[in-house]
Amino acid sequence: MEVDVARNLHEVLGNLPEGVRLVAISKFHPKEYIEAAYGEGQRIFGESHEQELKGKVEALPKDIEWHFIGHLQTNKVKYIAPYIAMIEAVDSLKLLKEIEKQAAKHDRVIKVLLELHIAEEETKYGLTLEACRQLLDGGEWRELRHVQICGLMMMASNVDDESQIAREFDEASDFFREIKAKYFSDDPEFKERSWGMSHDYRIAVRHGSTMVRVGTTIFGPRVY
Ligand SMILES: *Cc1c(COP(=O)(O)O)cnc(C)c1O
Repeated sequence: MEVDVARNLHEVLGNLPEGVRLVAISKFHPKEYIEAAYGEGQRIFGESHEQELKGKVEALPKDIEWHFIGHLQTNKVKYIAPYIAMIEAVDSLKLLKEIEKQAAKHDRVIKVLLELHIAEEETKYGLTLEACRQLLDGGEWRELRHVQICGLMMMASNVDDESQIAREFDEASDFFREIKAKYFSDDPEFKERSWGMSHDYRIAVRHGSTMVRVGTTIFGPRVY
């Protein structure tokens, strides 16, 4: 292994204040890298491709908590429903309902985060703040017994300007408070703010993050 996963992992963990958890993003990295981090006590890993995830789930220890972090097509939910702990990037009622259906088949509750689109980049993924309010105002999500909405997820713009990145995290934090007060004030499970990646997790933890998703800093560059 050319990458010192253990050292990198502990460096990242050392930068996280108490109460902030690390999702080690292992997509495109071999399972030996995951084993190295697991050996150091890391238990939460994030993947973004259903096929790759399946192979890793079968080969690796059963007490790993797997998070699905990328865009998830509705027709892929059934493959990950038996084991996925959290689906981080839910951006439609349609996807929520499909998760409900598939989780019910396995008699499980799947945790999810609603993905916000705040960054300046053009992307088809993520809810605008207004679309997120509309989804929650619709109220249908309250009927879902096998889906637990645990918070919000977002990616900041991929820029060097740290003040812009901080502003976007603050916008997401303000929105979290709004949503928490309006829809989830009696739900202690709604508490997660998943923001911060390799290049900006140190900023994220100063701006409301409870969960950072760090890949490259731990495992090195991905080979696609
Ligand atoms: C790949 C990915 C990450 C990790 O990115 P790094 O820059 O390697 O830390 C985090 N979040 C999402 C949604 C990703 O797709």
